[in-house]
Amino acid sequence: MIYQNATKQELQEELELLRDRFEEYSILNLKLDMSRGKPAADQLTLSEGILKAVVEDSECITENGIDVRNYGGFDGIPEAKRLFSEILGVPADMLFVGGVSSLNMMYDAFARNMIFGAGEGMKPWGQGGIKFLCPCPGYDRHFGVSQIFGAELIPVPMTEKGPDMDLVEALVKDDETIKGMWCVPKYSNPTGVTFDEETVRRLVSMPTAAADFRIFWDNAYCIHDLYEDGDVLPEIFTIAREYGNEDRVYEFASLAKVTYCGGSVAVMATSKANLAYAKKIMAKQFICHDKVNQLRHARFFGGIEGLRAHMKKHAEILAPKFDCVIETFERSLAPHGVGKWSRPKGGYFISLDLPEGTAKRTHALCTQLGVVLTPAGATFPYGVDPMDSNLRIAPSFPTPEELRGAAEVLCLCARIATCEKLLAN
Ligand code: PMP
Repeated sequence: MIYQNATKQELQEELELLRDRFEEYSILNLKLDMSRGKPAADQLTLSEGILKAVVEDSECITENGIDVRNYGGFDGIPEAKRLFSEILGVPADMLFVGGVSSLNMMYDAFARNMIFGAGEGMKPWGQGGIKFLCPCPGYDRHFGVSQIFGAELIPVPMTEKGPDMDLVEALVKDDETIKGMWCVPKYSNPTGVTFDEETVRRLVSMPTAAADFRIFWDNAYCIHDLYEDGDVLPEIFTIAREYGNEDRVYEFASLAKVTYCGGSVAVMATSKANLAYAKKIMAKQFICHDKVNQLRHARFFGGIEGLRAHMKKHAEILAPKFDCVIETFERSLAPHGVGKWSRPKGGYFISLDLPEGTAKRTHALCTQLGVVLTPAGATFPYGVDPMDSNLRIAPSFPTPEELRGAAEVLCLCARIATCEKLLAN
């Protein structure tokens, strides 16, 4: 039965059946978490041995003679730069290999521009009211960084190919206070969309009123394919160079969901001019980052091939979980015409668009049954989804059995919320 086409009487009967099932679930005292994109314990175990990748003191010297136990190697050790250079397809001299968190690097880059300006002689962003473009649904922590610095967040809808570029171009063309934009260009959080070449080209070639407009290109899922035929993201600096706009881009990535979350290595890639400027400021901020950890990572993988083999093992664990959730949606939601969902080829999320006005109610019903979801609205600036329709599903953390149960509960709650909404109309 497609709920949209059902009579009030049919919907009422369906709702009663669904509520009986809801009661059955409520006595199970479930405790299931699909809220944050965390690797499961068996994924963490894949990195067993990394803590022993550098054991003896004699192993602490890098290929260019840096002793990783000591100060030095401010912008990262060569072994780590080479690994990231291969991952991102960006020359090593455009990289800054830093600490354990890419989000931290994004925050710092934002803060630098707020306090000191985006480049030599440029006015600090913080000296005037600024706006930031937020493709949505998107990553709540990105929006949080720009929000805490006082930027006005401007939502831009995501399409199948990336952000709505007609809108982006129209917005940045005349408004000098729009200083930048968040992007998760590959397996976007949460839509799973990978930007196509036209989108990348338009982003780096579009005229912007602000000379200091910056794209925060968070390539967090650059190597996180779930299947053999992964998406291919065009390398942004190669295209930006054609237009002389390399300074427009800061690219970020980390090995957080490769080895250990909060214990990996993060990188920023940018133009040589931006890098020199950022380094001058960062030199006052720290002496160097944890190079022992950088060396451990480089030695553990031994190069890009080792890393790719490691990511295949992650995919073997993750892909069946994504498949399980999507199968459940197809079995339990599709026959009733409830919602639309992404089928990502990588990344950590499934984006579920429910009928307008039902996401919050679905979330609340799930909470009652012990299934924790990311709050409805979290994927939008200020936590407000104007359609109240999007939910971000993170299938990685629960076990496959738990996941099946959690997905069933979610479908049940979405169906209840949809019936209630239609009956109230
Ligand atoms: N960027 C995106 C798009 C993410 O989804 C996440 C983690 N959920 C991060 C950054 C955080 O990365 P890190 O641990 O390196 O700060």
